[in-house]
Amino acid sequence: MRHFNVDRAPEGVDRDDWESHIWQMQHRVRGAEDLARYIDPTADELSAIEKLAETFRFVITPYYASLMERDNPDCPLRRQVVPVSEELWDGAGLADPLDEVAHSPVKNVIRVYPDRIAFCVNNECALYCRFCLRKRMVGEPEWTMQKRELGEALDWIARTPEIRDVLLTGGDPLVYTDDRLDWLIGRLREIPHVEIVRLGTRLPVTLPYRVTDALCEMLKRHHPIWVNTHFNHPKEITPASIAACEKLVNAGIPVGNQTVLLKGINDDPATMKQLNEALVAMRVRPYYCYQAQLLDGTAHFRVRIEDGIELFRELRGRTSGFAIPQYVLDTPHGKVPITHQTSLGRDGDDYVVEAWDGEIWREPNP
Ligand code: SF4
Repeated sequence: MRHFNVDRAPEGVDRDDWESHIWQMQHRVRGAEDLARYIDPTADELSAIEKLAETFRFVITPYYASLMERDNPDCPLRRQVVPVSEELWDGAGLADPLDEVAHSPVKNVIRVYPDRIAFCVNNECALYCRFCLRKRMVGEPEWTMQKRELGEALDWIARTPEIRDVLLTGGDPLVYTDDRLDWLIGRLREIPHVEIVRLGTRLPVTLPYRVTDALCEMLKRHHPIWVNTHFNHPKEITPASIAACEKLVNAGIPVGNQTVLLKGINDDPATMKQLNEALVAMRVRPYYCYQAQLLDGTAHFRVRIEDGIELFRELRGRTSGFAIPQYVLDTPHGKVPITHQTSLGRDGDDYVVEAWDGEIWREPNP
């Protein structure tokens, strides 16, 4: 039996309140005083919280805060959500490294490929990850989508017949109420050329109590629905996050996971293997592992691409193939798989490949 991290309500908090996603959203950690209920913040963390207040929002769900290690500033969960002063020093990063604004035919719709779009329906998240690709917009009021603007985006999708796959993202679409999400997906379902609706959400990880039976019942009415979530570390796997993913899967929704490769958090083969094997065991399919972008204030999270390639090379052959996500670099031209070269090319009548254990195989290929 695996041992999982378990969320713990602080003393005095009723368990029913704790397991209510509404209570969790209303009682989020917003400052040093709240944070001290869960961890002993370092002087550097306290100073960074203050200095970065105007730059990128700091909010954590009580659930996620309760998973962090009180005395360990290197805790892999704490590092994802608690600011540190290194965020202030990175001068190399960009605000919009994927040039998403230039790829938006209408507000918050990003089109990089002909047949699919990322539709940033919401600029709110349950918490804010310090490495977030969309730092420029999440938590920022000017990126909020009013109902009229959602309507304009829906009209654009309706008059663009090539679009067959719509990813609802943000921010986080599951921060919406069930009714608002039902309305939005219902409108998409009225568009005949939209075949698939996907939801990109970190709430199964950061606020798993949001995945209620009522939500799953509503989503089931709009099939085919796919969900991609975002676990980065095995310590994010808890009985509550497993239950959330199982509810989605049991509602017939395929659930995939997108990880970001993060220095000091998951950039070693043992952690990556443990994470993805645990995901497979809970019927969540590892999908992508993203190279962290050259983004403002995130240099301390970035791993060298060569080291990332080597990490995934070490996993190949040492766990189930479907427990290895595809390592990709996202670019303004779309995702590019980055991988150790195992196809060595033609040699006479043979095609030469390198196997996982380093052996060279010559496959007759006249
Ligand atoms: S949940 Fe996703 S969109 Fe929200 S801050 Fe984290 S990475 Fe960014």
